[in-house]
Amino acid sequence: MKYFRVETPVGPAWAREEGEQLRLLRGDPLTGAVDSEERLPRAGARLLAPVTPSKIVAVGRNYRDHAAERNKPVPVEPLIFLKPSTAVIGPDQPIVRPSWAGRVDHEAELGLVIGRTARQLASPEEAREHILGAVCVNDVTARELQDKDVQFTRAKGFDTFCPVGPCIATGLDLGRLRVEGRVNGQVRQRGSTDRLIFPVEYLVWFVSRVMTLLPGDIISTGTPAGVGSLQGGDVVEVEVEGVGVLRNPVV
Ligand code: MG
Repeated sequence: MKYFRVETPVGPAWAREEGEQLRLLRGDPLTGAVDSEERLPRAGARLLAPVTPSKIVAVGRNYRDHAAERNKPVPVEPLIFLKPSTAVIGPDQPIVRPSWAGRVDHEAELGLVIGRTARQLASPEEAREHILGAVCVNDVTARELQDKDVQFTRAKGFDTFCPVGPCIATGLDLGRLRVEGRVNGQVRQRGSTDRLIFPVEYLVWFVSRVMTLLPGDIISTGTPAGVGSLQGGDVVEVEVEGVGVLRNPVV
C-alpha cells in the first residue's frame, strides 16, 4: 500500500494509491483510515510530506563505503543524531541552500516511519510491528559545518534540509531495497539496504532504548557512498525501491 498526503481545497488530506488515482481517506494511516468516495488523479496532485514527525532520528555512517569516502571509522554502535521537524519539506519543494553555509550535500536514504509508540523495546525482533512503512529521505548536510562543529545539529538542521516523500509504502522487505541518489538525472549514489551495518529492526530497538519513538517519527537509516554537493538550479532525486522518487529543486 502507498499512502500519500495531498493538498485539497479544504486542506491537507491522506490518500492511498489506487491505479492512476488517489483515493482520499478519512483519518490517517497512523491512527486508522477509511476510504472516502473521493478520488483525485495521481498526476498533478500536489503532494505534501507524507508524515509530520515530532522528530527525525538519523544514523551516521551506516554503510561501510560511505564511512570510507569520509575517511571515518565504522561505528561500533549506531551513531545517531536528530534533525528538527522544522527541516521537513515535501516532494517538489525547494531545498534552500544558505549562501554562507559552504558546501551542501545530498544524502539519499531509506526512512522508516514509526507506526506504533516504541519505548524500551526488549529486542530487535519486537521492532517490526512498530514500523508502519518506508519513505525516501534526503539527509541534506552542510558538509563544511559538519566537519567544523563537534556535533551535527547546525549542519543537518537548516530549514528545508529534510525532504521526505513521495509516500509511505507499506509491506516492503526493508532489508533489501535499492537506494539511489541522482542530481540532474545523473546517478551519484547507488546502494542497497542489505548493506546496512545496523539493519532496520536493530536501529528501531536501539533508538527506543534512548528515546520514545512516537507514531509518525522517522528513523533515517544512513546513506551509501557517492554523496556530493548541490548547487542552485540543481534537481536532486532520492529513489528507494518500492517507495518511489522524491524530487526537489535546489535554490
Ligand atoms: Mg545521513
